[in-house]
Amino acid sequence: MIIKDAMLETVCGITSRLPENIYLEIAFCGKSNVGKSSLINALLNRKSLARTSSSPGKTQTINFYKAVCLIKMSTDTQGNTALRDEKKTSYKDGRITSPETSADLKKRDMSLYFVDLPGYGYADVSVEAKKQWGRMIENYLNLSRNLKCIFLLVDIRHKPSENDKLMYEWILKRGFEPVIIATKLDKIKRSVLERHIRIIKQELNTNSDIIAFSATDKRGRQEIFGIIDRLLYT
Ligand code: GDP
Repeated sequence: MIIKDAMLETVCGITSRLPENIYLEIAFCGKSNVGKSSLINALLNRKSLARTSSSPGKTQTINFYKAVCLIKMSTDTQGNTALRDEKKTSYKDGRITSPETSADLKKRDMSLYFVDLPGYGYADVSVEAKKQWGRMIENYLNLSRNLKCIFLLVDIRHKPSENDKLMYEWILKRGFEPVIIATKLDKIKRSVLERHIRIIKQELNTNSDIIAFSATDKRGRQEIFGIIDRLLYT
């Protein structure tokens, strides 16, 4: 999958109606300052489409970024097209051999939305603002018909906070299995990586794989795209 174009299409505040999108949505959530905007920019190949800041607690909105992607489709003998199944395709010397030949592959544009949910855990906001945050997220998780996957971001340097744990459980209760991304990978030494990942798994009580990501050197980007690709096939 190649990102061809990206734009901020809709910004929703507490009183806004959610857009009636026809394309699938992938949501990103995590505490403020965890690196959500930086991750979205890195995935979309943009420097500052999503706002990044070193001061947490920005305006609480749900932002819909539309990404136009180039994907590969395969054509069967009847001329029907389907998304190419990477798992069934064999490669030799970097070329596709079976069951599809490279001639069967057609490239096609496909759109999807990256949904940036407001960050939580910022201490300096009123109780009312925190309630509004909860209502916004709950509304989105309950009403979005095209939400396919939620990425939950945690900082790789720290134990997940109580809010991270609550968020994780909240997402599970709503029927989604969040994909955990541990951000700011470049800020820890390679020698402690395994330990930090183990602590995150323990605290969130999960056996799922965790993707370690750095917005600085882009490690983990391909793994995230791998997950998004697989979502497009199902
Ligand atoms: P958000 O509030 O979750 O959207 O977080 P931002 O993307 O605005 O990032 C908060 C701060 O962390 C900014 O100063 C970013 O430059 C920094 N940051 C985010 N991701 C990384 C990363 O992977 N590595 C490093 N070194 N800094 C990061």
